[in-house]
Amino acid sequence: QPVDVSTVRSELAGAGVRYAAISFVDMHGKPKAKVVPLGHLDGAASGSELFTGAALDGVPQEVNDDEVAAVPDLARGIAVPWQQDITWFPSDLWLNGATFEACSRQILKRSQARAAELGFVCNLGIETEFFILRDGENGPEPIEESDSLAKPCYDLRTLLRSFPVVDELVTAMNALGWGVYSFDHEDGNGQFEIDFAYTDALGMADRLTFFKLMLGEITRRHGVYGTFMPKPFANQTGSGAHMNMSLADGEGTNLFEEPADPRGCGLSTLGYQFIAGVLRHARSISAVIAPTVNSYKRLVKSGSLSGFTWAPVFAAYGDNNRTNMLRIPMGGGRVECRAADAAMNPYLATALVLAAGLEGIREELDPGLPNTDNLYLLSETELSARGISSLPRNLLEAMEAFQEDPLCQEVMGPQMHAAFVQEKLREWEEYHAHISQWERDRYLKFF
Ligand code: GLU
Ligand code: MG
Ligand code: MG
Repeated sequence: QPVDVSTVRSELAGAGVRYAAISFVDMHGKPKAKVVPLGHLDGAASGSELFTGAALDGVPQEVNDDEVAAVPDLARGIAVPWQQDITWFPSDLWLNGATFEACSRQILKRSQARAAELGFVCNLGIETEFFILRDGENGPEPIEESDSLAKPCYDLRTLLRSFPVVDELVTAMNALGWGVYSFDHEDGNGQFEIDFAYTDALGMADRLTFFKLMLGEITRRHGVYGTFMPKPFANQTGSGAHMNMSLADGEGTNLFEEPADPRGCGLSTLGYQFIAGVLRHARSISAVIAPTVNSYKRLVKSGSLSGFTWAPVFAAYGDNNRTNMLRIPMGGGRVECRAADAAMNPYLATALVLAAGLEGIREELDPGLPNTDNLYLLSETELSARGISSLPRNLLEAMEAFQEDPLCQEVMGPQMHAAFVQEKLREWEEYHAHISQWERDRYLKFF
């Protein structure tokens, strides 16, 4: 629906808003912005706010290049809950009157357009897991002690003690109309999850982007900090950002629902084809949905060193089974990608997973039967008999797959693809060049 800028401006003014943040994300999904007084919203809407691309990761520009303009999506403003004077507008980048190729938001819009060509609208829900911590004498620690004798998962006492900060987050999300339907204490000490309603893929990518900012700011006001770092503690579960996806037709009917599914998961043939497409590209997609060195420390089997992880290790799918990369949660009708973590740029991640799923649909791929058993326990022989391959074990393996995959090149576009490769290989090199305390402890006096 085209939105009229003067209507938006007077509505905001009526609500006491004085400024608009014209905002887009860099390659890491971090929001950048210029803030304009409301009187300048009309100018901003016609592209007055210019940015030097060379200053940003993932925007392949030189200092002498023309500036990119950020054009706000007026229909999708989000009132900043802790700064009521400002409304945040996710924006698209343009260069000299044309859409800017390396704009994350437009990369997602391009995938949505491919879906639309086939008659599909992609809906997405992202489950946000995160830790709320403070700095103690021995490093980061939970803000409230959870029961150290019992597993902290679903711990009510710690949740209630942490209520002031968690409630402020939930209240803010609901005031924005995000439809929070539950929150809990997760399986790591100080780890929480807040789940909120599905929406269209672009809207959800905007919301996750904003929520990442919001977690940091609201926790900070309580003198603590929230983190989406994928695996902050070696022996505790990490934080995932499970992407729950489905395709609908133009009328909004969920095309992934099939109560009479012969495979018993409540998923339609279209849903299975989508799964097969995502599995085909699982290794290269990992680079974008699990984009840090630390992400791969989360994607490990449960064990004495890694804790009870609940995280996927294999490019496989199953029913409600949490050991698969892709799960069809109970009730069916959607596909959950469990490998993702919130360090992802949700626009790029969604663009890629969606494009891979659509490839599966176009080619009518079949993923075979669901894996209903605990994949952590299968031997190498059993895994290869089922044709199950591992997810990348580290960022380098993921980047190697990403570099080679034509789908990634096509979806990201040459500029973002090249910038992502360069940035992430540098991240890997930097990590690899670091000599850790673990190595000194292990080798210095041993050899
Ligand atoms: N924390 C787990 C992960 O890293 C997921 C736990 C769950 O299924 O909620 O993905
Ligand atoms: Mg969870
Ligand atoms: Mg989940």
